[in-house]
Amino acid sequence: MATLFIGGTWRTGSSSEQREVVNPFDQSVVAKVDEATVEDVAAAVGAARAAFDAGEWSGTPAAERGALLRRVADLLVRDREDIARLETLDTGKTVRESRQDVDDVASVFRYYADLADEDPGRLVDAGRPDVVSRVVYEPVGVCALITPWNYPLLQVSWKVAPALAAGTTIVVKPSEVTPLTTVRLTELLEEAGVPAGVVNLVLGGGEVGAAMVEHPDVDMVSFTGGLGTGRSVLRAAAETVKKVTVELGGKNPNIVFADVDLETAVDNALTAVFLHSGQVCSAGTRLIVQDEIHDEFVAAVAGRAERIRLGNGFDPAAESGPLVSEQHRARVEEYVATGVREGARLVTGGRRPGEPELAGGFFYLPTVFADCRRDMRIVQEESFGPVLTVERFTTEEEAIALGNDTHYGLAGAVWTADTPRAERVARALRHGTVWINDFGPYLPQAEWGGYGRSGNGRELGPSGLAEYREAKHIWHNTAPAPARWFTG
Ligand code: NAD
Repeated sequence: MATLFIGGTWRTGSSSEQREVVNPFDQSVVAKVDEATVEDVAAAVGAARAAFDAGEWSGTPAAERGALLRRVADLLVRDREDIARLETLDTGKTVRESRQDVDDVASVFRYYADLADEDPGRLVDAGRPDVVSRVVYEPVGVCALITPWNYPLLQVSWKVAPALAAGTTIVVKPSEVTPLTTVRLTELLEEAGVPAGVVNLVLGGGEVGAAMVEHPDVDMVSFTGGLGTGRSVLRAAAETVKKVTVELGGKNPNIVFADVDLETAVDNALTAVFLHSGQVCSAGTRLIVQDEIHDEFVAAVAGRAERIRLGNGFDPAAESGPLVSEQHRARVEEYVATGVREGARLVTGGRRPGEPELAGGFFYLPTVFADCRRDMRIVQEESFGPVLTVERFTTEEEAIALGNDTHYGLAGAVWTADTPRAERVARALRHGTVWINDFGPYLPQAEWGGYGRSGNGRELGPSGLAEYREAKHIWHNTAPAPARWFTG
């Protein structure tokens, strides 16, 4: 089956090249997908441009665009098992997580379906009775949506739903490592009745993404991925002064005060970092623990990390799957070697598991480093793997300083029984999301995004929709008369 979708037609790439999609659990080939060329990107952008300029989609009443998004949500629910299966084959994550992703994504489509026609703009007091001044919101134009491999369906939906609600037309490119659920979502968008040219799908690696970002007919880029790639995207987009939002990495502090319920905080510290083998932009990779409980806490986290059951995402007994690729595991291994060289104390993990039944997959053991210092590379740089670093603190001020000692600023958490302190620390942390006595939840209604080098712009919430809109001021003079500025 052809897997590029351009101008309402499924096509193969113009070079006829294909890419194998590999199951990270056993390296079997689960699918072959078409690879796009730069010419295919141009065709996809051309189709999106023509559809946008024709005005059919942006001119469709917002409530009808919302109704289409609601149909997509229903189709996601209908095909939940099939989509979850694809996501697990592609990423290696447990099918339980994949099902949760599908449910979350359906809620995101419903949220933007409701929001689509909620805000028609506003009247502004011009201070003159003969003038009607109003601000209206218009779709930004043609948008290039580029996503990573860790939450393929989720990340693409956070972009597609608000982009369509706003009335833009889109060219989508998922990560070359995990394209399957984005292909599936595109099929559902087609089934839901999206007009030809409004949604276009190209597949391929960085050069395909770069061609999208560079294309002069693209008005906006929404990118989620690594910091280095984000920088390239920002640089390339500068040439044509595109609107850009980038959601990049994170090095997220999880601060634990001594007054917590130890079992609860340990349990959550574990999920914070080891869920999906740490391949989560908001993973709580930096555990920051108060002196009094430090040793006990580290021992408990390490003990439980050793009991995490790795396995095939389809095995109900598996609690975590493999890393996404051989290349990524090599990156994590290099990172761990750096930690050892820097003098951090390896408490557990730091190697591949020995079980023969895991030997075919890209597995890596949950790893804990203690005695970490804030200036270590492993404390400052993202591993994007199952690696936890532990630092200690004495005072609240120190905890805040450590929590903010990062160029990133995506997410963080504070654990304490002292409510005023929890609020103080939450306010002081310079991160886009802060959890108090929890780690990880997000809501479609609440903005998601980063301070600092975690990116700019926001996804989800009303701001997630605003990214895809231009605000236009219309000044209507109902009684025009000569201005008489120039008198000659
Ligand atoms: P990546 O940066 O390697 O790739 C992301 C996407 O960009 C892929 O589709 C890739 O093909 C494409 N790409 C590569 N080079 C490009 C270029 N020059 N121009 C345009 N596109 C290009 O990231 P990844 O390894 O797929 O994902 C992991 C990263 O994503 C981590 O750093 C993680 O923190 C980040 N992430 C952030 C969030 C967030 O919400 N902030 C969410 C998920 C993942």
